[in-house]
Amino acid sequence: YLMLAIETSCDETSVAVVKGGRQILSNIVSSQIETHRQFGGVVPEIASRKHVESITVIIEEAFKKAGVSPGDIDTVAVTQGPGLVGALLVGIVAAKSLALALDVPLIGTHHIAGHIYANQLIGDILYPALALVVSGGHTELVLIEKEGQFRIVGRTRDDAVGEAYDKVARALKFPYPGGPHVDRLAHEAQDEVVLPRSWLEPDSYDFSFSGLKSAVLAEINRSRMKGETPDFSALARGFQQSVIDVVTGKAMRAAAEFGVRQLLLCGGVAANRGLRETLTALCREANLPLLIPPHVLCTDNAAMIGAAADLKWRRSEFTSLDMKAEPGFSLEDWSVKG
Ligand code: ATP
Ligand code: MG
Ligand code: FE
Repeated sequence: YLMLAIETSCDETSVAVVKGGRQILSNIVSSQIETHRQFGGVVPEIASRKHVESITVIIEEAFKKAGVSPGDIDTVAVTQGPGLVGALLVGIVAAKSLALALDVPLIGTHHIAGHIYANQLIGDILYPALALVVSGGHTELVLIEKEGQFRIVGRTRDDAVGEAYDKVARALKFPYPGGPHVDRLAHEAQDEVVLPRSWLEPDSYDFSFSGLKSAVLAEINRSRMKGETPDFSALARGFQQSVIDVVTGKAMRAAAEFGVRQLLLCGGVAANRGLRETLTALCREANLPLLIPPHVLCTDNAAMIGAAADLKWRRSEFTSLDMKAEPGFSLEDWSVKG
């Protein structure tokens, strides 16, 4: 079967054509990063307007690249939430119009389920599985007992990892989004400023990164007060090491406690080289199968939305045409019923 998938939850307008829930025929991603960079972050009103400007063109491009015509489509999937309400609405209106015009079912899809099921585009998921979700707005450990059944066992209490990366990057004078720059600098560093690890309570799978971000800012100020130049690369290294230690440490402990058969890394920060390397080494040691999507499938894209929507397609769990955008959509509530 052929699915058209649409993602507009934040600052990427993306449309994909996916065959059989697994095979990507096209996955067009149009990023607005250049537009938002001058403001140092995503401006919601501008994001919506940009989505409106590009959605029709991107849909046409996705069909063309896939070599299929609208009449061939069996279902339309779209990100229903979480995300910016005005941005989500643009994708939802487009998806509803297409579903109505083509007389095919609509599948409202959870953005984070998309990040997780991006892994299904590269391999088979073994259950129970544990997903380590590290993105711009989320940092979560998600237990997936059975296909499509989500239980959040840990989440951030303040900043998401990607958010902390972007804030630290700004302090180190990098443009938005700074995650990749901090990653590169951390690898080039000769020294490391050792920073605190935020483990929280011994049995907790929750996270906290705002203290670490403040520690970086405090170090910069301390150097300046003493008339020294702060060592940005040693700070980037220290920040990255602290983040990696904590997220991989908690993921491995949860994987053991819940007896999962596989670990899934996902979200935009899964593009981080240090994190990929460390988790790969830890999983090899623990003899635990690990899936990590390639970069293009880690950051926001519509193919991952198609991969998650496939769970609902196979169970005929369709969404009514009067559905609304859900800016605070709960992942657990989106679990499959059957
Ligand atoms: P969410 O999925 O939670 O709604 P989002 O969709 O905005 O948030 P993603 O697109 O999944 O987030 O990820 C973007 C984030 O990933 C940004 O914060 C960016 O800085 C970060 N990021 C990208 N590459 C790297 C990297 N190599 N190292 C660290 N962070 C990175
Ligand atoms: Mg983005
Ligand atoms: Fe995302």
